[in-house]
Amino acid sequence: MPNHPPPATRHQLTIGWLYPDLMSTYGDRGNIICLQKRCEWRGIATKIINIDPSTSEHGLSTIDLLFGGGAQDREQTLVMRDLRGSKKKAIIELIEHNIPSLFVCGAPQLMGEYYEPAKGERIEGLGIFAMHSKHPGPAADRLIGNTVAEVSWNNLGEPDHPQTHIVGFENHGGRTYLNRSAKPFATVVKGYGNNGEDRTEGIVHKNAIGCYFHGPLLPKNPVIADWLIKKALEVKYQTKIELAVLDDKVENRAQAAIVSRLGVSV
Ligand code: GLN
Repeated sequence: MPNHPPPATRHQLTIGWLYPDLMSTYGDRGNIICLQKRCEWRGIATKIINIDPSTSEHGLSTIDLLFGGGAQDREQTLVMRDLRGSKKKAIIELIEHNIPSLFVCGAPQLMGEYYEPAKGERIEGLGIFAMHSKHPGPAADRLIGNTVAEVSWNNLGEPDHPQTHIVGFENHGGRTYLNRSAKPFATVVKGYGNNGEDRTEGIVHKNAIGCYFHGPLLPKNPVIADWLIKKALEVKYQTKIELAVLDDKVENRAQAAIVSRLGVSV
């Protein structure tokens, strides 16, 4: 990355991180680090709010960009014991007011209508995403492996975006099924995606992305990190934003290497 001092700080973003002690089982904290660094390199100040049982409704209202990582079924149940009432309402309001968000794996399952875990009761979701998820049970194979998918940029409001594909790693037992009206985040080229059947990967609702890709997703696919940062600044400052271009040679070489190793042509 650039070895010159970042430009003077002009903008600031508050990033909300959903239950980091319960939902970072698959290294998804790397997405927070990526967002922080790609802001810092551009002179954008960041503040991280760890969302947990002590977080107030007011605290949630200050969030400009929301992130939730992956979790095991038990932790998802614990999170949903807290994510209800005024806290649930505040999260829904953020999304409905176009706050950009990234939810990975266990997190989007909770943002959907419901998640039926491998064992135990159905977990009612926040109903933000028009989808539901079901784990076929402890004996079922988990959907695990390196992944490549073509981003549905049209659904992200950028039909002409030049970067076509993303790479990642998935590890989930739950299968997700989009409602007919829902917009997928991407189309699977290699891997399972939402359910290993319909080649959809993730979901988009307003500026919220649900995605099954760990990796972590953002360091492997900086275009998605920049889309989130740009959207967050535009929504917060109510103006068009052009982000300074960063030197992503290393990230792009790493992405090309995994695509080639998987024998995929994109
Ligand atoms: N516990 C959920 C499942 O197995 C989510 C897993 C994850 O976040 N990687 O599908």
